[in-house]
Formats: sequence, structure tokens, C-alpha cells
Amino acid sequence: MPRTNDAWDVLVVGGGPAGLTAAITSRQTGLSVAVAGATDSASHCGETLSASCLQLLTRLGIGDEFRCEHHLPLQGVRSAWGSNEVDEHSSLFNPYGESVILDRMRLGLRMERLFRNEGGVVIEGRIQDVRVERGEHLVTLRTRQDCQQIRAKALIDATGIAARVARRLGAQRIIQTRQVALGWCIEAPPGTSDLPTTAIIEGVESGWLFAVPVQRSRAAVWFVCDPVLATQGDGLKRALRESREVSRWLNCFDLVPTGEPAVRNASVGRLDRVAGDGWVAVGDAALSLDPLSSSGITLAILSGMHGARAIAASVAGNDDRLAEYVQTLQDAAKHHAKLRQQFYRAERRWPNADFWMNRQGLARSTSEDRHDSRRWY
Ligand SMILES: Cc1cc2nc3c(=O)[nH]c(=O)nc-3n(C[C@H](O)[C@H](O)[C@H](O)COP(=O)(O)OP(=O)(O)OC[C@H]3O[C@@H](n4cnc5c(N)ncnc54)[C@H](O)[C@@H]3O)c2cc1C
Repeated sequence: MPRTNDAWDVLVVGGGPAGLTAAITSRQTGLSVAVAGATDSASHCGETLSASCLQLLTRLGIGDEFRCEHHLPLQGVRSAWGSNEVDEHSSLFNPYGESVILDRMRLGLRMERLFRNEGGVVIEGRIQDVRVERGEHLVTLRTRQDCQQIRAKALIDATGIAARVARRLGAQRIIQTRQVALGWCIEAPPGTSDLPTTAIIEGVESGWLFAVPVQRSRAAVWFVCDPVLATQGDGLKRALRESREVSRWLNCFDLVPTGEPAVRNASVGRLDRVAGDGWVAVGDAALSLDPLSSSGITLAILSGMHGARAIAASVAGNDDRLAEYVQTLQDAAKHHAKLRQQFYRAERRWPNADFWMNRQGLARSTSEDRHDSRRWY
């Protein structure tokens, strides 16, 4: 831990999966590391983790504990995508094993404990300002009590889609598609039978719906749509009227979404620069994937590991790994964009609906979108 006037080797901003992975990895390279993180207000109810991501947790050093926590297994996914017929994909046929329905809070606590055990320090607070002074970063952090200034040789931006640090340092966010997810966590009435541990995904004219049990008697429903629907109170009701499978599933278990939905920014985009002099962005801050891929946390963990090693090498005077990291993320962005378009193009039931045309690459784009997509591909 640095003395009062010393700088941390690495300050990680943001304590989500990308930030904590980067912090643990940086600590394991022997550097002094602190995480500055604000309390996460987003609802992560209903996120799933693939079996291959569980292997990453093992590499990080928390795989065994994670498995012992008995996160609910996801036995399969039913999809009504591209036709009214329902396709069943069982986890049994996945060579890597079952996915799990994630308890994000528990994963966060587990990661934070490992980081503290490795000698890392967590400071609760929200970053207000970032400046570069005499080759070091000077970060202003607002905590519950006061404002602190923290000095660090290197910064890791893990602030999620907001990319607060990188944008302060001059990087710009390129949005490929603006979209939101409206979500509800719904408790089944007492006496309802256990919910089946399969998820359902269904395309509707104005977006797509995803329903998944989060516990035996609790489910999450997300509706991914254009942002304008978030401001219209009946967005979900309309989607459920259009839906056959998700609404049938909810009815079957007396699950009724009520109250205001949680609204999450689900936009797909990336930074124009994911690294610079003494800083690197990881996770959603660097590249935010479509939730359709269910891969954001895998990317967060992978980029957290690689970004941290790259910045550690850079602190030691070698920038080659930083260049490799930038290239890897560019490749990942291209790969994601291609796969994503294929998925959306498989849904042709509403050829004139803006939501689908925009994602299939068929819509007349705005000048902003044209600018964005030239840089994306
Ligand atoms: C509807 C929806 C469903 C999804 N489902 C899945 C899924 O099933 N599987 C999957 O793998 N992924 C899923 N994702 C994606 C996944 O949630 C993200 O990719 C993942 O959370 C990214 O992790 P992160 O650590 O980069 O960012 P985040 O999880 O967003 O963490 C960022 C952290 O930074 C903190 N922060 C922000 N600003 C500041 C500041 N100024 N100062 C200090 N701290 C700050 C925040 O409070 C937060 O704790 C889904 C996304 C959405 C929108």
C-alpha cells in the first residue's frame, strides 16, 4: 500500500466483473492496486454465465468456491426466433457443460474477497475528475464523507458502458445501436410450483423478450427495444400482447410484471481508443456487446485479465502487450458485429419494423449511424 504521498501503481475505477478481474490480475503481477468503485445501482437480475466463463473463473482463482455456491443451472433455452415454432436447445448437448443463472452480488463479493486477500484495497466512491500531472494520473473521488485525491501511475477504466475515465482522457464512445432493456424481477405467488430452469427468448415486432427463472419461485423478464419505448409506459404490455411464448410462460406460473421497470442501457458500442498513455479500458467500458449474446461478463473477465497484464507491462516500459490488447478487442468487435447481424437477419417476420431493419443492416441509416458503422467494421 502506498504511503501518503506515493502513487498507486494501478488504480482500477469500477468494481463490476471487469474491474475486479483487472484488480486481482494486476495484484497478482505484484503491483500496488486499489479499486475505486461506486455502488452498482443497475439490476442484474436474470443474467446467465456460460460454462466456458466458469473456466475463466477457475483461472482467476475462484472457480471452486463459485461452483460450491450452487448457482441455479440453466438447463436449456427455448427460442421463438425467426418463426412461430419453438426451438429447444438443451445444455446437455453443450460440450462445455451447463450454463448457470448468475447471482451477481455473490460473484462480486467472492471476487472482492479474493482481491482483498491478495492485499488489494477497495475505496468506495464515485470518480469525479481525472487529470494527468507530471506523468501521473490525479483522480478526484467523491466518497460518502468527503472528496479525496488519489495518484496512480496507471488507470484501468472499468466503469461500464459510461466509460467515465477513458472519456475524461479524450476517448469517444462509438455507438453502433442505441437500445434499452426494460426489466422486471417477479415473485411467483405462494404455492406456485417450482419454475422450470429453462429460459425463453422470443422476437416480437418491437424488440425481443427474454424470460428466465432466477430462483425456484422468482423470474426475470427483460424486453430489449428502441429507447423511445422506455418513455412510453405501455412498452412491455404491448410487447407481451405481441408475444405468444413468454406471455404463455408467465401466465402458466401466475407471474405478473407490475410497477415501474428497471431500465438498463443495452446499447452496442465501443470506444474509439481502448488504451492510451498509462490507461486501458476493460469490459463494457471498452466494448459493450448486445445482451442477445449473453457474453458481456465473459468479455468483462477476459478483457479484465488481458488489459491488466498489458498495463502492467506498460508500467514496466513495454507497450507491445497494450498494442496486442487493442488489436484483440478490435477483432472481437468485428466478430461480434458479424454474428449479431446474422442473428438479427434470421428474424424476418416483420420486414418493415424499424427495430429489426436497423439491426439487420437494412435500414436507411442516419448520418450519425453511417459515421459510426464506417468506424465499427
Ligand atoms: C438486459 C441485459 C442483460 C444481460 N445479460 C447478460 C447475460 O445473461 N450474460 C452476460 O454475460 N452478460 C449479460 N449482460 C451484459 C453484462 O451485464 C455486462 O457486460 C457486464 O456487467 C459488464 O461488466 P463491467 O464490469 O464491464 O461493467 P459493469 O457491470 O457495468 O460495472 C461497472 C461498475 O463501475 C461503477 N461505476 C460507474 N461509474 C463510476 C464512477 N464514476 N466512479 C466509480 N465507479 C463507477 C458502477 O457502479 C459499476 O459497479 C446483460 C446486459 C443487459 C443490459
